[in-house]
Amino acid sequence: MAENHIQNSAGDTTRIPAVASATREFLQQAHKLLINGRWVDGAAGETLETRDPASGAILARVAIGDATDIDLAVRAAREAFNGPWSRLTHFERARLLSRLARLIEANTDLFTEIEVLDNGMPVGISRLTIDNIAEMFDYYAGAAQRIEGTTTSPPRHVSAQAEALTYTLREPVGVAGLIVPWNVPISTAVLKLAPALAAGCTVVVKPSEETPLSILLLGRLVAEAGFPPGVVNIVNGFGASAGSALARHSDVDKVSFTGSTATGRKVIEAAIGNLKKLSLELGGKSPVVVMPDADLQLAVPGVAMATFFLQGQNCMAGTRIFVHASIYDSLVAGLKAFAEGMVIGHGLDPATHIGPLISAAHCEKVMGYIARGIEEGATLVTGGQRIAGPGNFVQPTIFGDCRPDMAVVREEIFGPVMAIQRFDTDDLDAIAAMANDTDYGLSGSVWTRDLSTAHALVARIRAGHVSVNCHGAVGTNIPFGGYGQSGWGREFGQEGLDAYLETKAVTVQL
Ligand code: NAD
Repeated sequence: MAENHIQNSAGDTTRIPAVASATREFLQQAHKLLINGRWVDGAAGETLETRDPASGAILARVAIGDATDIDLAVRAAREAFNGPWSRLTHFERARLLSRLARLIEANTDLFTEIEVLDNGMPVGISRLTIDNIAEMFDYYAGAAQRIEGTTTSPPRHVSAQAEALTYTLREPVGVAGLIVPWNVPISTAVLKLAPALAAGCTVVVKPSEETPLSILLLGRLVAEAGFPPGVVNIVNGFGASAGSALARHSDVDKVSFTGSTATGRKVIEAAIGNLKKLSLELGGKSPVVVMPDADLQLAVPGVAMATFFLQGQNCMAGTRIFVHASIYDSLVAGLKAFAEGMVIGHGLDPATHIGPLISAAHCEKVMGYIARGIEEGATLVTGGQRIAGPGNFVQPTIFGDCRPDMAVVREEIFGPVMAIQRFDTDDLDAIAAMANDTDYGLSGSVWTRDLSTAHALVARIRAGHVSVNCHGAVGTNIPFGGYGQSGWGREFGQEGLDAYLETKAVTVQL
């Protein structure tokens, strides 16, 4: 691959693969906080470096904020909520959302490259996510125009005395804090931002400290699209300072958080002060059940990608694989061959299937789980090595002969590690009990040619999203969220919009 030497905003000359001139220019610019329509430094003047996880190159130096900056951003959001934003009609808000969608489309290549450089994901996946965020703004522009209440019977004690009318209004929750992880940064930000703005909320976005760049790029387009100052504020920073200040702030009405279950618990504690509304999209350890009649031509790549998509840094990742004994050997042989054929490399190389993990620290964590899998007696079918050299690469790794008590089966690894268990029963209740033996409940899939088996198993699996003969088939219009410790509430679709709306009932005595 060709390489560029760039002078970035961190003042260092580093090497990254060849990128478009617009990408180089963006990286060279100053990256500040967006508060009340202005790009500003953090109050404490702190910055952080964001790196390309595939090469270790410093991409940019980014201003970071703390509780002081969060407070300024919340004030700006409150003023915009009480002021210009609340005076716009649903149609005017929808028009702004559509304008933003068009600006994203015009900058698809730039977004695609920035997301690959900052996160490491393969370029084809990055492009899909950018197409998808434009779609999300369009979808919620449409939904904004259909926000409507109902009419119903007035209460008897009023209607007994006079003619009366009762109706409901749908009103925005208010100021929303949106806390975003690093694994699909721009998508996760937009699947909160688009419905929040459609509902009429104003927002403070807190990107992950690992991947701030694509959200900062979106911030530039927000101003260009014509959103009034203060409607969208972006405060980069660390979770323990900026994130926790946002979750705790007494003038934030709602927090939508995506991240680990452990951090989700901290967000709940921080939110208690003013009992702010919470949406929580948390971790997962999703089951993949392969029945004896499964089409292996479909199941081998499908099951492999259920685990290895995004290097396994995917909340929906299907990492607990349950395979019927009659096809165990053929499926495992197919998965081994598939994993060994995957190309590991820089996400900007179109040949790459497996990019880097987000950081060296995360690589260490994943390697620790691989060591535990071996210690606990799982069979290492393939992989298990960290790749030497710059970048945070781990081979796609498959463990066979796993038991339900093993760490690789119980804990969310968030890396390219698959744990396979064998079963030899046809009892669907027993199979579902194995699949449901987890604290999580985000996703899952069933692989079978038999429609009755498929529907009967889907009904028994406790998860917010279950697919048949595919995995993780989410979409803008399809509600998504977790059972159990995978979270509270749903994003996407109408439910994603409802999460930013209050219902007010009104009775009028005529
Ligand atoms: P994380 O919990 O470490 O961080 C998520 C965000 O929370 C970051 O912006 C971080 O700065 C912030 N944060 C950290 N501490 C905080 C605190 N005390 N108060 C408020 N905010 C704080 O998660 P991560 O490592 O960035 O992402 C990986 C996790 O996210 C995985 O567990 C994955 O399953 C989960 N995830 C879930 C979904 C879903 O839809 N359910 C989607 C993507 C990722």
